[in-house]
Amino acid sequence: MQEKGSISIHTENIFPVIKKFLYSDNEIFLRELVSNAVDASQKIKRLSSLGQFQGDLGDLTVDVKFDEAAKTITISDRGIGMTADEIKKYINQIAFSGATEFMEKFKEANDANEIIGRFGLGFYSAFMVADRVEIDSLSYQEGAEPAHWTCDGSTSYEISEGTRTDRGTDIILHVNDESAEFLNQARLSEILNKYARFLPVPVRFGTKSESQPDGEDEEGKPKYTSIEVDNIINNTNPAWTKSPSELTDEDYLAFYRELYPYSMDEPLFWIHLNVDYPFNLTGILYFPKVKNEMEIQRNKIQLYSRQVFITDEVKDIVPEFLMLLQGVIDSPDIPLNVSRSFLQADSNVKKINNYITKKVADKLNELFKADRKNFEAKWNDIALFIKYGMLSDEKFAEKANDFCLLKNTDAESYTLKEYYEKVKDIQVDKDGNIVYLYTNDPAQQDGFIGSVKAKGYDVLALDGPLDTHFTGYLEQKGGEKVQAKRVDADVVDKLIPKDEQQTLLLSDDESKKASEIFEKAIARGDMKVEIDALAADDLPVSVTIDEFMRRMKDMAKTGGG
Ligand code: ADP
Ligand code: MG
Repeated sequence: MQEKGSISIHTENIFPVIKKFLYSDNEIFLRELVSNAVDASQKIKRLSSLGQFQGDLGDLTVDVKFDEAAKTITISDRGIGMTADEIKKYINQIAFSGATEFMEKFKEANDANEIIGRFGLGFYSAFMVADRVEIDSLSYQEGAEPAHWTCDGSTSYEISEGTRTDRGTDIILHVNDESAEFLNQARLSEILNKYARFLPVPVRFGTKSESQPDGEDEEGKPKYTSIEVDNIINNTNPAWTKSPSELTDEDYLAFYRELYPYSMDEPLFWIHLNVDYPFNLTGILYFPKVKNEMEIQRNKIQLYSRQVFITDEVKDIVPEFLMLLQGVIDSPDIPLNVSRSFLQADSNVKKINNYITKKVADKLNELFKADRKNFEAKWNDIALFIKYGMLSDEKFAEKANDFCLLKNTDAESYTLKEYYEKVKDIQVDKDGNIVYLYTNDPAQQDGFIGSVKAKGYDVLALDGPLDTHFTGYLEQKGGEKVQAKRVDADVVDKLIPKDEQQTLLLSDDESKKASEIFEKAIARGDMKVEIDALAADDLPVSVTIDEFMRRMKDMAKTGGG
């Protein structure tokens, strides 16, 4: 049996185009081919459990091998295999039909970058690194003949009898000269580690040496010998695929260390995501201690699709304020084979985004309610991203209003509501505004804060990186008539406790008239007149130079600076 044919795609020269524009991401050929091998293995398992395959499943380990001299990389599986007809159908027609689609998308896109790396390349991504690709396969079906297919990246292929004697498929890549970097142990290890480390079927990449206890030496000390063992590069059963009830805290922490082996700190807490309607999504999100920029950059959320690593650029899937979290999201419903702009508009992506936000808010609320002391202790580490979330996402803010904490300069914590209640009758100005006094530099303003507190007022410590924006949030959403003011003498002197306000002797109108009379009499623009006619024994009128003018005057006196 020998047959030549032509692959039906409209564009003859697709491969040069693909090679050129996908070059930066060409390492994904291995992800695609290994995940095809894993798919084929999962399929035979399923057929077996359905009773549609009666034979022996045997060892389903997928092998990745390379031969530097022969310039080949081979991916072998013991999955369902393909007959010659199936190769023609699945590889020539279906796999390559993606090529036509690619060209259409490519023509549409204004910016080549929009599609690069996002397009599901499937089987034919092999041609990014290979001049020629061979398939050697034996189907699981009774009486199937082994089949061999070869193609040099043009639109013609050759099918002949194959050589495989056991069920499964070998994909043999004849690596081209520009891609010689892949004929290298370290490089292939790196790629497998990146994309395949949580695949559901074992993947073997050669062997590795491991030391094993081997009796004792003359002095009775244990002896070790080094032996060669299979180098299985993946954990087929990662924590996020299990049910939360199966997992202990230690399991979650162990998985965190597995994900981020170079992380020094433990996460503060985590959320196990698990939803199957209206979309499929599993995962574990960890809340890290707030760290330096570098570590945030390094330990990013990783996105998987059925345990195949896709990317750690999750900007379009995870709300921006949650990018500070770490962990794994796995969803077969996230469309990965389309452009970024499509992704942003995709309704599933929006739903996923909302779901994650809601889950995170619910979890924080639950932690707050279950153990407030513990939540307060962790506050400094999570305040940044909670405030970021409240400022950027209204839905999140709505929920976070219940557990967002305000800390005063005595390190006491209050919820927004509690704080409002605490100061609403004491820190009031004459217009009835409730004034939240805050400092953005507690150390610098220490003496001053002390004297303000001695008067019975409270000072918030708002010295975090987002707090200048957060004061605006407090004014809008923190409660009725709230004004946040950086603490200084001007502000404090204007506060009038509520019960004393009742005793104002003049109406607004009368005060205004009185102050006009005084202003005329003084006739100095840098002085302010205030009528605070309170109780009879109080000073009814004060004339002050305002803070700014006073300072200017002082400076003028001392000759500046
Ligand atoms: P996809 O995996 O998205 O279906 P691919 O282009 O990667 O697209 O593969 C096309 C088809 O070729 C697969 O759906 C499958 O039917 C077949 N195929 C590819 N690799 C293998 C393999 N190792 N064993 C069995 N079938 C395979
Ligand atoms: Mg595939």
